[in-house]
Amino acid sequence: MRIGVICAMHEEVDLIRKDMQSDKIETIAGRDFHIGKLYGVDTVLVVSRIGKVASAITTSILIDRFNVDKVVFSGTAGGVDPKMNVGDAVVATSSVQHDFKVPGGDMFRIPLLDISYLPTDEELSKKAMEAVQEYISNDMLNDIPKQYLDEFKIISPKVEMGVIASGDEFVCSKERNNWLYENVKDIKCVEMEGASVAQACFEYGVPYAIIRVISDCANDDASVDFDLFIKEAACHFTRGTVKALFSRLG
Ligand code: SAH
Repeated sequence: MRIGVICAMHEEVDLIRKDMQSDKIETIAGRDFHIGKLYGVDTVLVVSRIGKVASAITTSILIDRFNVDKVVFSGTAGGVDPKMNVGDAVVATSSVQHDFKVPGGDMFRIPLLDISYLPTDEELSKKAMEAVQEYISNDMLNDIPKQYLDEFKIISPKVEMGVIASGDEFVCSKERNNWLYENVKDIKCVEMEGASVAQACFEYGVPYAIIRVISDCANDDASVDFDLFIKEAACHFTRGTVKALFSRLG
């Protein structure tokens, strides 16, 4: 079994990359695909770059050229459900492209596929949920220096399952945040890649999971919060959760 692991930004793979054994690199479309064993699992690790197009291209290459059997996306997101705070995490039950607008049918409908909310793989997501739970309630609090835990106000982080919305937009206003909360059913957070990775996996018939840690609350402070989180915390989350997930893959 071969797993494709995708992150959107280089900062997020800084630590996990060092854990790849027999790291062989193949560069396609400007992306470095790291091929080798990761925590005992045959893995291809890649930075997709940011946004729906970049991540869809990356996912297609992973599936078509590297024949991965499953895809795991790990990254940061802006909290939309007011219950979600910085340091909490979300494992997607489904994802939706919040900037997809065509006349007729359901809101956010993807034409020709005729679906708006793309479901993740139940079994993989269940394992991801257990893995994230284990990581954020134990090691995350040791991995992130105390100074930043205090700054992010992370005390006892939680993980929830729910809908993740994706679009080519960094959401940083209360107004847009409210719009998402009102229009996307069961939304937990917003980001820029999950639903396009989902569409590629859905069309190829490959099981996938999306894991996100809240880096900001998609409000007026989002840019400042995001910049600090991506610098000081995101790489720990990627390594910790993927490691815990891989220990559960039989
Ligand atoms: N500052 C970067 C851009 C970061 S975009 C640059 O200029 O190059 C934000 C990234 O984190 C995306 O990969 C997205 O998936 C995620 N993300 C975190 N918070 C987000 C938010 N509030 N809105 C949208 N995406 C967010």
